[in-house]
Amino acid sequence: MKFTPKILPDLIKAVSGIIEKNAEEVTALDQAIGDGDHVTNLQRGIAALEKQSSELSELEWAPAIKKIGMTLLSTMGGASGSLFGTLFISMSQGVGDKIVIDQKGFADVFSQGVEAVKKRGKADAGEKTMLDVLIPVADRMKGDVDSAVEYSELLKNICQTAEQGMESTRDMLATKGRASYMQEKSIGHIDAGARTSQLMICAIVIVLNEM
Ligand code: ADP
Ligand code: MG
Repeated sequence: MKFTPKILPDLIKAVSGIIEKNAEEVTALDQAIGDGDHVTNLQRGIAALEKQSSELSELEWAPAIKKIGMTLLSTMGGASGSLFGTLFISMSQGVGDKIVIDQKGFADVFSQGVEAVKKRGKADAGEKTMLDVLIPVADRMKGDVDSAVEYSELLKNICQTAEQGMESTRDMLATKGRASYMQEKSIGHIDAGARTSQLMICAIVIVLNEM
């Protein structure tokens, strides 16, 4: 499968819908071990992207992804705003002048974005953050692309890996972000950023699966 930015409005709509649907749950997660604002931060960013939807679909990949990152960075706020912003801005650098992106191209670019998030957050896997979803998804995608896993299987694995990563944060001790102030009390709660990352990834997978 090869994609152009024409798919962006559908993806943004799906992401917006899934976050809206799960907003209360995510707020409760961030209230338990953070300050409860994660979903409103994210919804502010997504609302800004919805306004830019048709404009984004007319751009080429690198400027479109860069614009998404800049918009998230300037509208979201919170730790997650700079991290999601960094993810997309770094991905746009990896895209270069590609007009269409295939599975392999996307897996490489996504991994590059996740590496930038690690640097920006000074964090790695196992610290109870969004990275516990992003890192395993990036690794799984690269592995599956390298071993030529069939497309629908690859999509299924992406969502499944995201769900496992999200679940894995429950038993972790938070060592980064606000949740780290809770120390041992952070154990037993799923990380809000891991949950929203998983929800968005699985919503995107559903759209791609139907195309
Ligand atoms: P804030 O923590 O500033 O209130 P949000 O509530 O919007 O920001 O986002 C919190 C989420 O950001 C956490 O659930 C976690 O997934 C993620 N996060 C926080 N700090 C880091 C970090 N250093 N590295 C990676 N992710 C982080
Ligand atoms: Mg918060």
